Amino acid sequence: MLTASTDIQYLKGVGEKKAVALRKLGIDTVGALLRYYPRAYIDWTDISLIEDAPFYENVCIKARIITPVESRKIRSGMTIYRFTVEDSSGTAEITLFNRRFLAQQLRVEREYLFYGKIDGGFFTKKMSSPMIAENSFNGLEPVYSVTSSLTSKSVEKLVRTAFAAVKFSETLPESVKERNDLCDINFAIENIHFPRTSHGLQKAVKRLVFEELFVLQAGLAFLKKRNRGKTGCIIRNGYFEEFQKCLKFELTSAQKRVVNEALADMASGRPMNRLVQGDVGSGKTAVACALMYAAAKNGFQSALMAPTEILAEQHYSTLVSLTENSGIKCALLTGALTKKQKTSVKLLLKNGDIDIIIGTHALLTDDVEFRNLGLVITDEQHRFGVAQRGKLSSKGENPHTLVMSATPIPRTLGLIIYGDLDISIIDEYPKGRQKVNTYCVDSSYRERIYNYIKKFLDTGRQGYIVCPLVVENETLDIAPATEYFEKLSANQFKDYALGLLHGKMKPKEKDELMRNFAAGNIQLLISTTVIEVGIDVPNAVIMVIENAERFGLSQLHQLRGRIGRGNHKSDCILISDSKSEDTIKRLNIIKNTTDGFKIADADFELRGPGDFLGKRQHGLPDMKIADIFADRDILHIAGKEVEILLKDDPNLKSAENEGLRAEIISLYKKINEN
Ligand code: ADP
Ligand code: MG
Repeated sequence: MLTASTDIQYLKGVGEKKAVALRKLGIDTVGALLRYYPRAYIDWTDISLIEDAPFYENVCIKARIITPVESRKIRSGMTIYRFTVEDSSGTAEITLFNRRFLAQQLRVEREYLFYGKIDGGFFTKKMSSPMIAENSFNGLEPVYSVTSSLTSKSVEKLVRTAFAAVKFSETLPESVKERNDLCDINFAIENIHFPRTSHGLQKAVKRLVFEELFVLQAGLAFLKKRNRGKTGCIIRNGYFEEFQKCLKFELTSAQKRVVNEALADMASGRPMNRLVQGDVGSGKTAVACALMYAAAKNGFQSALMAPTEILAEQHYSTLVSLTENSGIKCALLTGALTKKQKTSVKLLLKNGDIDIIIGTHALLTDDVEFRNLGLVITDEQHRFGVAQRGKLSSKGENPHTLVMSATPIPRTLGLIIYGDLDISIIDEYPKGRQKVNTYCVDSSYRERIYNYIKKFLDTGRQGYIVCPLVVENETLDIAPATEYFEKLSANQFKDYALGLLHGKMKPKEKDELMRNFAAGNIQLLISTTVIEVGIDVPNAVIMVIENAERFGLSQLHQLRGRIGRGNHKSDCILISDSKSEDTIKRLNIIKNTTDGFKIADADFELRGPGDFLGKRQHGLPDMKIADIFADRDILHIAGKEVEILLKDDPNLKSAENEGLRAEIISLYKKINEN
């Protein structure tokens, strides 16, 4: 007896070769084949007249063959078949390549359906290699994504065999289906593959989209629970006042709230798993420091991992100045240390003589050991994969983890990507923060802008010019950073100290340059987008972004966050010659909004989810049919339903939820493979 979990090779019609090809498509069971939905449908009922059919678009015509099928051999055994067809509006010439079997079956004077693209000259319309069906065919034909060794037709055949043999257990509770007007699973499977009407197809799509988002969120809810084991790292509060006294400023109320949320987690006996999202400049570092301070006072070690050496150094010097008289011992571990220094730090760490370690990826190596790691913080989380976060945590026994991110993720997406984390948001800037004025201009202003920059530099301030690409690209009219830098150094800015920063530089060189910039030795930094992350140079107050239309909104916002960090007036100038309406709309959003979340939402609306985080980073499986953005309303409804369900049956033990359990288990497998 076949079931959904039967290996695909046991399905009738699947030989060795087909099994290999199917596995390449990710289909390794009969169930997976039934879940391999068509990518499109050919609607054989939507018939166009030859004369009215638009060029270069797939259309279906219903026409009679009016000439004999002519065959002609061309080079290397290829045969072309040609004939003319006619409908009430006109004629078209049809060409088939090598389709001998099909060509022999066609009968002159008979009417067929032809599906393909029309092109050709003024007098003759042509259609090459159309799909052909009997004129009585009535319905939607599934089209599957296939590799070269499989055809869509052969997949269709196998799906028919599979569907005849195997039915799924229902994965959605009856009550959920009723409330949301969703059809049964097997009706949906049948209709997604072989819809008889477009209404049936719609019902199938609606149900499968809902199901996918429902299962995903139920799965994430479990993941969240799984991460909530016990921990022996009890970090009691009681040091917050003391910490406040070390600071030169008063924490904003948002910072205080977030610190308290995290402290409550850390005292709870369960490991914290929290994301702190705060726009650039919202003061995430101080939050991290408060927590590490508390951990140290409770006798636990903490580790803070940053994506670059310069950021790690920056955090380190912040911490050192904060903990000066507190008896807390901090250390730095990066690739820049000598071997001897590293060995010594590692030894101290292992013995528990260091309370707080700040570092880069260097912290991840196997010989970095802790005595009692209680808290792991990763800064600029999007630069690290989920696995790296886990690796650092595994150096302790269920330590608390906090991830900090300035990449404002649209709320809908955050729900999914960080579904296994609790989220705290710093939605307030420190007092006295200057609003950055943003201007959009075209390149005719460039010389004037240079003079404007000089005014800032002359009063001791610093600035950035950002260009999108580093190498010359002939097809794009972009000023490459290197050339740009050379031109400015030789001409307009020859009396100023300029620096060039780009992605092709070695990490060491980059860090060295940024150190020089932070120290004020460089006045104007010409850069590609590599300055995006975290760097804090309050004296930098002007930023010019060339070819601004080439950047995503969130990226522009991140870049702009590098200025306006001190108490000087700051300006951001976006240069773009693009006249496209879309670009103007996008740049205006940046000009008029400083709220990273609003910008992220707008970016999401305009560009979809792909640009925020790569799959690697969020580690979620691809969606089969749902689109987190387009289906965000269903996402919310499904999320609510998951909450209700898990209240009733927290472990999905009831018989009704067996099918759902199975789906979640197979989803876990995919999450773990990612
Ligand atoms: P981000 O959230 O982008 O990591 P940082 O932690 O680098 O921001 O903080 C940006 C700047 O704001 C730093 O110079 C920091 O010292 C300062 N800062 C943080 N919190 C406050 C506060 N409550 N009041 C005044 N300045 C603050
Ligand atoms: Mg930061």
